[in-house]
Amino acid sequence: CGIVGYIGLPEKTSTHSALDVLLEGLRRLEYRGYDSAGVATVADGVIEGRKKSGKLANLVAEIEAAPLREASLGIGHTRWATHGGPTDQNAHPHFGDQGRLAVIHNGIIENFAELKQKLLAAGEVFESETDTEVAAKLIGRYYRNAGDLTEAMRLASNELEGAFTLLAVHVDQPDRVVASRRNSPLVVGLGEGENFLGSDVSGFIDFTREAVELEQDQIVTITTDDVAIINFDGTPAEGKRFHIDWDASA
Ligand code: GLU
Repeated sequence: CGIVGYIGLPEKTSTHSALDVLLEGLRRLEYRGYDSAGVATVADGVIEGRKKSGKLANLVAEIEAAPLREASLGIGHTRWATHGGPTDQNAHPHFGDQGRLAVIHNGIIENFAELKQKLLAAGEVFESETDTEVAAKLIGRYYRNAGDLTEAMRLASNELEGAFTLLAVHVDQPDRVVASRRNSPLVVGLGEGENFLGSDVSGFIDFTREAVELEQDQIVTITTDDVAIINFDGTPAEGKRFHIDWDASA
């Protein structure tokens, strides 16, 4: 029920550790309620995921038991199960493109059953019962054709019905985090040499007060120094910039 994304400078310079930002964001988003949590990061040409049902503390314990590489980009998720029970296996991230792509999702993909039939017929193998994994496999297939995560996300989003905020990272494009939004919340946070994504501003409130609002049916690609927004038809879009006046002492 909550989503965060982060990209900072690759060397441990002025920006943050992706894992610190993701866990802090998820902690801030806990108020939304959830049954599982997970993260995916990309570092040293490797994509890694950790996910766990139950409280955020369970995920933190899992990461302590199996540490992640120091990473400067990643995505984080709290899940409110709608398709598939609240198990470790159904927790996000889910993977596509032979494990080279990680996806997290809030919302419901209404046409997941028919898409899953097509993907199964095309030889995809599923590891969960979620609607989300269908999106992960679909984005993965488009990535194999397009070779570009933004375009793969755009093509997949046009086929998905329902409500979704999707975030994706791909091991071959470690310079970006890509997000898509349809009937579901998503905000961008602006930093210096780093940028953020959140279901709402509380996902990055500890790190920046400058934000950009998107409209529905848009894709945003964040890099360390750019925020590029397009509509689902591929035309460029401008987000609306705003300053967050909010007492985050809580
Ligand atoms: N429909 C997805 C699932 O059940 C996402 C639920 C959510 O919004 O957290 O896994």
